[in-house]
Amino acid sequence: MTTLINESNPFTNALSQLSRAIKVVSSNDDIIKRLASPDREIKASIPVIMDSGTLQIFEGYRVQYCNILGPYKGGIRFHPDTNIDEVKALALWMTIKTAVMDLPMGGGKGGITIDPKKLSKTELEKLSRGWVQKLYPILGPNVDVPAPDMNTNSEIIGWMSDEYKNLTGEKTGATFTGKSLDDGGSEGRTQATGLGGFYTFDAIREQAGLPISCKVIIQGMGNVGGYAAQIFHDNGHIIIGMSDSKGGIINPLGLNPSEVENYKKENGTLAGFPNAKYVTNEELLTTETDVLIPAALENQITHTNANEIKAKLILELANGPTTPEADDILFARGIPVVPDVLANAGGVTVSTFEWEQNLKGEHWSEVVVLEKLKSSIQNQAQIIWKSSKELNTDLRRSAFILALSRLSKKI
Ligand code: GLU
Repeated sequence: MTTLINESNPFTNALSQLSRAIKVVSSNDDIIKRLASPDREIKASIPVIMDSGTLQIFEGYRVQYCNILGPYKGGIRFHPDTNIDEVKALALWMTIKTAVMDLPMGGGKGGITIDPKKLSKTELEKLSRGWVQKLYPILGPNVDVPAPDMNTNSEIIGWMSDEYKNLTGEKTGATFTGKSLDDGGSEGRTQATGLGGFYTFDAIREQAGLPISCKVIIQGMGNVGGYAAQIFHDNGHIIIGMSDSKGGIINPLGLNPSEVENYKKENGTLAGFPNAKYVTNEELLTTETDVLIPAALENQITHTNANEIKAKLILELANGPTTPEADDILFARGIPVVPDVLANAGGVTVSTFEWEQNLKGEHWSEVVVLEKLKSSIQNQAQIIWKSSKELNTDLRRSAFILALSRLSKKI
């Protein structure tokens, strides 16, 4: 019988993905012992004097999961539901992701429990700098290299990077990636996750039996989902559904992503978008389509809706959107799930290029960056697709098996 009790705990899910993979191909025991828990997990209380003059304490985190392959690497998430278990899961996924991409990086993740929409810009800046004030002794280009994640962007990373330089005197700027171009960021970083998802999809589309022009539904309109919608649209696919955290819209004839973005900016909601049906997030996920792209939070496709999914392929641009129970249901139904640790690895890949450029004092052109991203992610996608067929297992297990074999060689 399937155990459902822990389906909503992302860290339990991440560990379960690991143990499911080693049942298919066994791995070095020492690596499994190392990956059972993070190297270090830190909670920090961050004091901020709010605009009202009162002091408020926020809870921040950094989890340094594993540095076998290089410095800890991973974003910092600002979200009201962020907690240590989520950050641990995300840090373990980063460890697998950097190994899947064969990057010289380990895995880590950070966060602050906060709804950033409720803060003024001054408060947000104080909070971002406050995170660095508490954690800077454990960061550094060769130690731990944070980046943006959900609700964090190049402006927030710019404040953090500046605070870090002020506190330590470090000059390369390689401690934080995802910086703006003026601040030492890399060409192509902002769109890298969405673009990497598209390159991955493009590498396996034919083998997955999908047409040149696919119907696509995207859940989430943040940096990742928003760019993905535009990129798939620009490459001849038909975006039939998009959503934000409140609800979604469906038009079987196709939506223009930039019109949807503009409508949301003007109205604060997708409700009322012309010629489209307004649906719940649940309806959006179970609408018939060729490709479903979850690009929001974890645990969206679970045992409760996996049987209702009518997509022919799922491309995970969010981290952890599909639970292990749902993976089994989808595999049995013949619906491939291109896992997060491959599909959304474009972000950390270009982050690593940024780190390398900063350390070498170089600036690469967008053409060079995107060509490097495309060839490396498509190469890994082909390896993982092929081995899933050879092993008769799902793409997630085969991605984990590839990561574990690379980690084992370096332990
Ligand atoms: N937050 C992104 C991820 O989940 C990017 C991390 C990075 O650039 O280090 O992969």
